Parts: sequence; structure tokens; C-alpha cells
Amino acid sequence: MSYSEKDIKTLIQEFKEIEELMALKEILWINGKKESFESAIKSSSVDPVNIEDAEKRLTRFSSFIKEVFPETKEANGIIESPLTAIPSMKKSLEDDFDVSIPGSLYLKCDSHLPVSGSIKARGGIYAVLKHAEDLALNAGILSIDDDYSCFASEKFKDFFSQYAISVSSTGNLGLSIGIISAVLGFRVTVHMSKDARKWKKDMLRSKGVTVKEYDADFSAAVIEGRKQSEKDPLCFFVDDENSNDLFYGYAVASLRLKKHLESQNVHISKEKPLFVYLPCGVGGGPGGVAFGLKLMFQDNVHCFFAEPTHAPSMLLGILTGLHDAICVQDIGIDNLTAADGLAVGRPSKFVGKEMEKFLSGSYTISDQRMFYLLNKMVENEGIKIEPSGLAGLYGPVQLLKSQEGQQYIEDNGLSETIKNAVHISWATGGSMVPSSEMDEFINVGKAIDINEL
Ligand SMILES: *Cc1c(COP(=O)(O)O)cnc(C)c1O
Repeated sequence: MSYSEKDIKTLIQEFKEIEELMALKEILWINGKKESFESAIKSSSVDPVNIEDAEKRLTRFSSFIKEVFPETKEANGIIESPLTAIPSMKKSLEDDFDVSIPGSLYLKCDSHLPVSGSIKARGGIYAVLKHAEDLALNAGILSIDDDYSCFASEKFKDFFSQYAISVSSTGNLGLSIGIISAVLGFRVTVHMSKDARKWKKDMLRSKGVTVKEYDADFSAAVIEGRKQSEKDPLCFFVDDENSNDLFYGYAVASLRLKKHLESQNVHISKEKPLFVYLPCGVGGGPGGVAFGLKLMFQDNVHCFFAEPTHAPSMLLGILTGLHDAICVQDIGIDNLTAADGLAVGRPSKFVGKEMEKFLSGSYTISDQRMFYLLNKMVENEGIKIEPSGLAGLYGPVQLLKSQEGQQYIEDNGLSETIKNAVHISWATGGSMVPSSEMDEFINVGKAIDINEL
């Protein structure tokens, strides 16, 4: 499926943003298809019960998680990350980009989620646990009231060794699915796109995971992974382009974030609006989190996706309404970015269709700026994040500095309340990056002259 030059010309006439995307400009696009929460939820295909169900399932598995991942002991086997106020970074953004950011700025540190060090430790691990539970229940070796630490037993490992799990990934999803599947005893294969870092493949191989490498991008790795998995009836393919379970696993973050904010005495309301900026690849992670946040805070939360200028696939899909029928290569963009977690050329149709009524907008950010922000985050807050994870940090600047953002604030009746705003940048990965590689990232960022951005 690819677009002819004529089709593209028609698209450019209809959507002026496409030319800016083709020129690799950093833009903020406000989503004209957003509806009020009340209206959007009516036509949603996602039943919120599934998210509560996911939270309960993760609680059932907590005794197992605690046992096999001792780093989760303190949190009682719940895989969760801190929400950290970053006032120094906020000041630095204001100074560097000559903008005032009213309200407070927080970092949601999914970069530091236990087990796999990225947002994929939510959805990926959940999807595998759900599958494992289904298999065990169907085989009659588990009842739902059992202590789930039994999943760590040799008996269960033997049982799961009959079955296979496979997944296609730019790196982090493979890491998360590979780690949890191997611990459960599954035979596991990860199909890595050319973006995947060597250390991620090495780590997986050291855990007994089969890693297949492709000299192709994510969408191609998905097609190949799916095809190979279909040949094995005992193989379960975690489909990043279409998985409801990944989506529910990600969405659980929202229930916890609400409690987290309340425990810090932050109560989101009409007077205190919440703005959340989420790095977006194929869409499942940011889509699931944003959907959950809309359920929690309805019209008082404003969700924005962030993508590299070289891979604005979700923006392109929602803007044109073509979703997975168009990819960034169709408009001459190469999908090459150091933000490997976001190197996706064709978006998830499931997520795009679901989110187009809820999403406030989407923006693009250059690789250079991600590296610049990476170094600033270390300097100001001492927090180390991989490049993809920095995309969300530019959101408040895009919102408050651009004309489109100012218009959004006015159109949504936020001119008065913006001074009380709570901004959350979702940091999506980084804590497992080897220190030599992280030092290189920092040095790249350090060398960037802000006047060249
Ligand atoms: C996967 C990933 C994302 C985006 O999630 P998608 O589900 O692909 O949209 C963002 N940041 C990092 C670091 C990731 O690994």
C-alpha cells in the first residue's frame, strides 16, 4: 500500500501540515476531531472494565513478580515508577526557549520502571501475564484465588515450556516481553527491527531469548514476526499494532497516577487542568495511558503525543484519517531517528481510531533537540533518560510558545486556569541503557549549540 504522487498532492492540498512534516519542521498540530469526553466515550470501542480488570490481574501476579524480580519487593510486586517534580528543568526550559510555563512541571519516570526500564514494562509484561494466566486456567493447574507465586515453580515453568511467545520490536518491547516470557519458562523469539540497540539484543540472548535481526524497519519486522508465528499453533504473537491487552496494561498507569497525584495533594479539576505529553511510536503506550487518563480526568486532562520529525506516523494517520493506510515513507520521510523507541513509520489503526476523539494534539521534535534536552535533564535534575523519552519534555514549550498552542488554550477556556496547570512529561525509557552509551548521548547533547536548534 503506497501513495502515488498524485494522491500525495491531493493530500497536501487538503492538509497544509503535510508540507511542514515533509520539510521535517517541528510543529504543534491541534486535533480538530477532538470531542468532549462525554461524546467521545459513547463511540469508544474500549470497555473501561478491562482496565480495572487489568489492575486486578496485576495485583494477583504481584506475589510472583515480587519473588522473581526482587527490585519490586519494596513496592510489593507492583511495577510502578515515581512522579517527580522537576522545577530546575522547568526553569531551564523557560530560560532556553524564552517562554513562561505557568503551573508546575513533573516527570513521570517510566524510564525507571523496574524489570525492563521503559514504559513497555507496563503493557508488554501485562500482555504476557494475561496470556500465561489464560493458559494455566484452561489447563486446570490454576484457580484465580491461588497464590500466584506458583508461577515461579518448576511445575509451571515446565508447563509453559511447551508454548512459545513472539514479538516484533524496535528494542524496548522486545526487552520487556523477552524478560518476562523467559522467566515464566516460555520459548521466546524477538524480531528486532534495524533500530534496536546491540545491548538490548545481547541482554536478551543472555537470558535464553532467540533474537532475530532484520535490516528493515519496525513495520516490516511486524509483518515477518506475525508470519513466522502463525506457523506454530502453540505460539502467541504479541501484536504491537493491534493488541488490546497491551493497551489495557498501559492504561493501568492512569488509575495509579490519580492516586499518586492525590497523595501529593494535587487535585485535578476544572480550575487545575492537567496537561500530559507522551512520546509516541506505534501508539499503544501513549494511547493506553492517555485513554486511561481521559477516563480519570475527562475534560480536565489534555493529552498530547510527541513524535520525532523523522517519524511522525501517528500524527499523519490521525490528521489524514488514513491511519495505517499511510506511512511516513509515503510522504518522503525516512523514519530514521536516534529515538529508537519512536522509529515507527506506520501507526496502529486501532489506537489512532480510538484516540482521534480524545487527543488534544500532537507535535514533532528533532533528534537534535531531544539530545539537547537529554543533557539538560542530567545537568538540572540528575535524571538519565534515553532520547525517545525526552520527546515529551518539549510539550509545555510547544503549547505555550506556539500560536496554535495559544489558540488551543483560548478555545478550550483555559486562559484563566492555565496559571494553575499541572504539566506531566512522560519519560518513557532509559534506566537500563549501559553507562558508556548514556555518556555518549550526554556528550552529543552537550555539544549542541542552542542557537542551532
Ligand atoms: C515504545 C516506546 C514509546 C512509545 O510507545 P508506542 O506504544 O510504540 O507508541 C516511547 N518511548 C519509548 C522509550 C519506547 O520504548
